Amino acid sequence: MAKPGVLAQYGKFLPVTDKTPLITLGEGDTPLVRSPRLEKEFGAGELYFKLEACNPTGSFKDRGMVMAVAKALENGFKAVACASTGNTSASATAYAAAAGIESIIVIPKGKIALGKLAQAIVYGAKIVMVDGNFDDALRMVRELCDKQPVALVNSVNPNRIEGQKTAAFEICDSLGGAPELLFLPVGNAGNITAYWKGFKEYRGRGIIAAAPKMMGFQAAGAAPIVLGHKVDKPETIATAIRIGNPASWKQAEAARDESGGVIDMVSDDEILEAYRIMAEKGGIFGEPASAASLAGLIKMKRRGTDFGGQKVVCVVTGSGLKDADTAIKGFSGQFIEVAAELAAMEKALGY
Ligand SMILES: *Cc1c(COP(=O)(O)O)cnc(C)c1O
Repeated sequence: MAKPGVLAQYGKFLPVTDKTPLITLGEGDTPLVRSPRLEKEFGAGELYFKLEACNPTGSFKDRGMVMAVAKALENGFKAVACASTGNTSASATAYAAAAGIESIIVIPKGKIALGKLAQAIVYGAKIVMVDGNFDDALRMVRELCDKQPVALVNSVNPNRIEGQKTAAFEICDSLGGAPELLFLPVGNAGNITAYWKGFKEYRGRGIIAAAPKMMGFQAAGAAPIVLGHKVDKPETIATAIRIGNPASWKQAEAARDESGGVIDMVSDDEILEAYRIMAEKGGIFGEPASAASLAGLIKMKRRGTDFGGQKVVCVVTGSGLKDADTAIKGFSGQFIEVAAELAAMEKALGY
C-alpha cells in the first residue's frame, strides 16, 4: 500500500477540510530508532533518534510543507515563495513541482550547503540570491507575498507549524506515550514550537499523560534566544540553524517555559563532535544542524545531568548527505593507500 502521508494520517488534528487536496510525497512515518550503543555511552534509560532525514526531501520540513502547499492549492494560489537556508526551499520546490505550481526561493548569498541548492535547482525553483543574510531574505519574501498573489510558505505560515507537529504525534504513537526529554536544534524556532503544540494537543486529548521537557539547542554563533538579543551576523557551520532573529522566538520561549525545558547553545566544535559520534557509534548520518540535538545531550551529561531511567529522544532533523562537504573536510588525509594486491592491503590493515 502507498504511504498515506501526514495529511491523510493525521487529518483530524490538522486544518484539513473537505476542500483540502490530500497531496503527499510520502512524508512522515519516519523511523524512531533506539541506539543501544549511545544509550550506554551517555547513561540514558532509553535513547532514541527520530530520523527526519527519512522524509522525501531529506528533512523534517516536508511535514509542514505538505500542509502549507495543500492550503495554498485550496486557496487558489499558483505560486509559493520562501526564504531559506536550504531545506525549506528544497521541500517547497518539491511539493510545488508535484502540485504543478511555481516556486520562488530567496536565499542569502553563500553559506548554503550545496546539496540543498542542488535540490531546488533540480525540482525547478526560481532561485533568487540576496546580498544579505537570512533575515534580509525573509523580510523580502514577506514583502513580496504581501503585494503579489504568492503564498508565503516560511514557518511564519501557521500551516507549516500544523504539519510539523505530526512528528510529536508519531513519537508518542511509537513509544505508546511521551518521552521525558526531547532534544532538538533551534534555528527559526518553528520546529520546537510545532513539537510543543503537538505534545500539548495529545496531552489535551488524554492520549499522553504528560508532555516531555523541550530541550532546544542553538549554535553558539547564532544563539539569539540564549543571549536574549538578536544576532546581526550569525555564524555557524550548522547552516540550517544560522539564524539571528528567529521568527518563532516567543513561541520557543513559551515551549521552553511551559515544558520546564531549556534553550541553550552548543559550539561548532561540540556540534561536529556530536555529528561524528552519532555517525561512528550510532550509524546515523545527520547534517551538522541535526547534531545539535545530541551535542546538547552530551553537554548536559558532561555538566553532570543523569539521564538514567529516562526516555530521551534526539531529533535528527536533516540528512548528512545534503552537506557532504563538511563530512569530507573532517576526513581529509585519512585514506589508506596501497598497491593493487591483497598482501599490501592486508599489511596496511594490520592482518
Ligand atoms: C530548519 C532546520 C532546522 C531548524 O528548525 P527551526 O524550525 O528553524 O528551528 C534544524 N535542522 C535542520 C536540518 C533544518 O532543516
